[in-house]
Amino acid sequence: MDKIVIVGAGVAGVNAATKLVDNGYPGELITIIDMGNDPYKRKPEEVMTGFLGAGGWSDGKLTYHTAIGGHMSKYCGEDKAMELFNEVITNFKRFHPKPEEVQCSNPEAEPDFIKPYFGLRLFPVWHVGTDYLHEIGKNWYDYLVSKGVNFEWNTKVEDIDFENNHVLTHNTHLNYDKLIFAVGKSGIDFAQELAKEYNLPDEPKPVQIGVRFEAPQHHFQKLIDISYDFKLYRKFDNEGVSLRSFCTNNNAAYVAVEETYGDHSYNGHAKKDEAYRNNMTNFGILMEIQGIDDPFEWSREVVKKLQKNGTGLYYSPTRKPSTTSEGGEVTATQVDDLTDFYDAMDGFAKYIMDFISDMKRIFPTLGSDWGIYMPEVKYLSPEPLVNYENLSLTAYPNIHFVGDALSARGITVSGAQGIYVAENVLNNN
Ligand SMILES: Cc1cc2nc3c(=O)[nH]c(=O)nc-3n(C[C@H](O)[C@H](O)[C@H](O)COP(=O)(O)OP(=O)(O)OC[C@H]3O[C@@H](n4cnc5c(N)ncnc54)[C@H](O)[C@@H]3O)c2cc1C
Repeated sequence: MDKIVIVGAGVAGVNAATKLVDNGYPGELITIIDMGNDPYKRKPEEVMTGFLGAGGWSDGKLTYHTAIGGHMSKYCGEDKAMELFNEVITNFKRFHPKPEEVQCSNPEAEPDFIKPYFGLRLFPVWHVGTDYLHEIGKNWYDYLVSKGVNFEWNTKVEDIDFENNHVLTHNTHLNYDKLIFAVGKSGIDFAQELAKEYNLPDEPKPVQIGVRFEAPQHHFQKLIDISYDFKLYRKFDNEGVSLRSFCTNNNAAYVAVEETYGDHSYNGHAKKDEAYRNNMTNFGILMEIQGIDDPFEWSREVVKKLQKNGTGLYYSPTRKPSTTSEGGEVTATQVDDLTDFYDAMDGFAKYIMDFISDMKRIFPTLGSDWGIYMPEVKYLSPEPLVNYENLSLTAYPNIHFVGDALSARGITVSGAQGIYVAENVLNNN
């Protein structure tokens, strides 16, 4: 039987190990190395490291839909992805001191008034409860230890020799037959170093670019009452373009300037304190475009073209840029028309402007009372190319990438990827 080393005791690594020992795999053949602490020693300020990783100190919301939280169904199909999500949720319940308190919030049906123009993404979420995650962690850890799984805590993996199958830490080197690489967001730099060192090919990524839209909140209130962080979307399959509203902020909602690679782009945030209430709403209107040859370079060019006087652009038929939460102006050069936007976006600006026109139909008071900050952009981090049947690297079939280190963005998908790999290991031993 294979000797398995799991780098990262986060959500993905722990779910993988659990699947293995649940099915009789000898725990003694599994070693999990983590740079953080075991659940008994882990301190609240250790947000990203230790048993259950970032998931251990998270909000404990387990999303339950294949369109949310990263990629699973692209590897294994919808039905299998949902089956794996169920397994992750069952694991959280199983080690929960009060499993009956794990509840699923049921979204309401899509309201009729938006239907002709947009879809509204509503998805179920299981709530584990932050307060219980520590207890879950301890119970879960005890189970794995009882099954013989070896843990190395406070041990950072510094290098991995893919050719000779060993993992290097500051004081040891450990051989493996199979490696599960589950380092999460806290290990993303390490993952990128390895990708460079071993020249790992990437998954082709779509472009994600658009604008940050802002308007007084009352125009959107009837939708906000149904879904605070509403997600409108539409898709043009034949044109390889889809659009969605992204990261909605309300009540005390501010637009923020981001500086990436020396250029300005926009994002938004909401303050919790009532003192900051400005009764505004802002959200990204992001477009995902498939089939652009070098999406990173293309996006960089678009962003560059949308800079004027050292910052991004603002357009509104009637309004001025808003103030920041500190009371200053949001840095943006106001333009009188959208010529620069149409020029920069290479034929794709029309999708955004159609989205806004249709919002005016479903929110009839909106009219000209809105503004857009240009651009909003997401530079997607490279994702190593893996074999879809077991998430192993195409050039190194005994090395499996899982969780946020691959393509997950949340707990359910990370756990599901771990279990998926474990199933493959079980089938081949
Ligand atoms: C504050 C916060 C709240 C969140 N809330 C939610 C939520 O409510 N719902 C949700 O779905 N998602 C949430 N997330 C995201 C979720 O926690 C992650 O998507 C998930 O934990 C990723 O699982 P993973 O196993 O890939 O990585 P992680 O859980 O991050 O685990 C990675 C582990 O690898 C270890 N590691 C990294 N590098 C090395 C190295 N070189 N050597 C040894 N060990 C290493 C780390 O110590 C860590 O324990 C939240 C994230 C944060 C930060």
